[in-house]
Amino acid sequence: MTQAAPSQQTALALLQSVFGYPAFRGAQAEIIDHVVNGGDALVLMPTGGGKSLCYQLPAMLRQGVGIVVSPLIALMQDQVDALAEVGVRAAFLNSTQTFQQALAIEQKMRQGELDLVYVAPERLLTQRCLELLEICPISLFAIDEAHCVSQWGHDFRPEYIKLSVLHERFPAIPRIALTATADQATRAEIISRLQLENALQFVSSFDRPNIRYRIVEKASGRQQLLDFLQAEHPQDAGIVYCLSRKKVEETAEFLNQHGVTALPYHAGLELAVRTKNQARFLREDSIVMVATIAFGMGIDKPDVRFVAHLDLPKSIEGYYQETGRAGRDGGPANAWMAYGLQDVVQQRRMIEESEADENYKRLQSGKLDSMLSLCETIRCRRRHLLSYFGQNDASTHTNCGNCDVCLNPPKAFDASVATQQLLSAIYRVDQRFAAGHVIDVLRGMDSERIQQWRHDKLSTYGIGSERSEAEWRAILRQAIAQGYVSVDYESYNALKLTETARAVLKGEQSVQMRQYEKPQKAAKQKRAV
Ligand code: ADP
Ligand code: ZN
Repeated sequence: MTQAAPSQQTALALLQSVFGYPAFRGAQAEIIDHVVNGGDALVLMPTGGGKSLCYQLPAMLRQGVGIVVSPLIALMQDQVDALAEVGVRAAFLNSTQTFQQALAIEQKMRQGELDLVYVAPERLLTQRCLELLEICPISLFAIDEAHCVSQWGHDFRPEYIKLSVLHERFPAIPRIALTATADQATRAEIISRLQLENALQFVSSFDRPNIRYRIVEKASGRQQLLDFLQAEHPQDAGIVYCLSRKKVEETAEFLNQHGVTALPYHAGLELAVRTKNQARFLREDSIVMVATIAFGMGIDKPDVRFVAHLDLPKSIEGYYQETGRAGRDGGPANAWMAYGLQDVVQQRRMIEESEADENYKRLQSGKLDSMLSLCETIRCRRRHLLSYFGQNDASTHTNCGNCDVCLNPPKAFDASVATQQLLSAIYRVDQRFAAGHVIDVLRGMDSERIQQWRHDKLSTYGIGSERSEAEWRAILRQAIAQGYVSVDYESYNALKLTETARAVLKGEQSVQMRQYEKPQKAAKQKRAV
């Protein structure tokens, strides 16, 4: 593209003539103007917000080729094809090409015949590529999925850290970093690692008002999922997230047996199968994709009507990003999740047993705590979510009216006595038994193990017999979430009291909990721990 006066008018003209959109969305116009004029930018915009145009248009408006660093090699071909379709001169450089193909692109770059080139970070960092960039006219560097620079995030890519070289070697060329993950810590990490201290920050609202958030108590997860799909999404496209590959496959099979067209997707499947399933999901109208978190980054399907979680995500960032794939067309969509005691136990164990250092574990554990507090909150879920992302405007001061808490407010109750009973029961069995046994003791059940350990002689035996097993599980889960109880994975998930339990036991601290409500249409209750 030839150099034009960098004015908004020109950007708008290109938006309309090339992309066929009538107007800019949100902060797009401001961002584009800033970058066209040579400024650095950090753009935090939710998935589907329209980040791509923020670097595509400036790259077209400025002289030289725009270099887009992206970890999503699998999507580069599609992105380039889509741009070619509307007449933008784009290409990519990555490991899927032959040497000859790459040479041809490099030549075009040198001759200024391209507007945009997508490059994988490991490719960009090669000596060869950096030298190429020295001799090419470059309009800008766009660093997409910039949160990959964060060591604590689940998308960490070590090569991203080395991208600071761009600033060092090409100080005069504007850089625009973009991400949909925007908690304060990640933002700070992006700025410092990529040396974006002088970049202007553009933080969009993270509110997705058309998504209805709902988090239900897990009883028989799969059956609840099926009930939800049959009742609310009989013919819709959607995504179901599971933690493990095995569970992905089992769930997909279960749904298929019950008349739902479901396809599995996880990193353990052959590439050809993954590609085929993804293509069907994108092309057909009512496919349910059952997937691990390997599925989704960069997927642009506007009419995903629901995102369901059968397992607890590891962090609010993950939850937000995954649920954000629903309703990108602006139509009503559901973010539905079932979670239970086992999720808490399992996630804590995964953190505990990982090879990571103590620092990392502490961070992961903190992120899990935040996720749990979203699950257990008795406040509007959306307000909770948005305040977590540091958003502080009207949307965080009023209830949304479109989440389960707003629509069907849960009752809170003073759980001080129940918690004391639970804590004493744990203490009386010497902190050596797991949830099932402790709850049996509380409920005064008769079991071989109770006989064997003579736990029917304990003062706590049967003191909680008026509550169901499910109720006790909900109380225990919240006691773990609130930090009064911990689970010792090294000794068969034995429950232990924490430091903070003492104040509750002594009656110095009261405890508020969410009132247990029976899951609707719950099938057989399964033993969780
Ligand atoms: P992100 O990268 O933030 O997830 P994209 O850049 O992929 O989002 O944009 C999401 C969708 O919105 C795309 O289909 C894109 O073409 C569309 N879009 C972006 N900006 C506009 C706009 N100003 N007007 C209409 N549609 C837009
Ligand atoms: Zn709400």
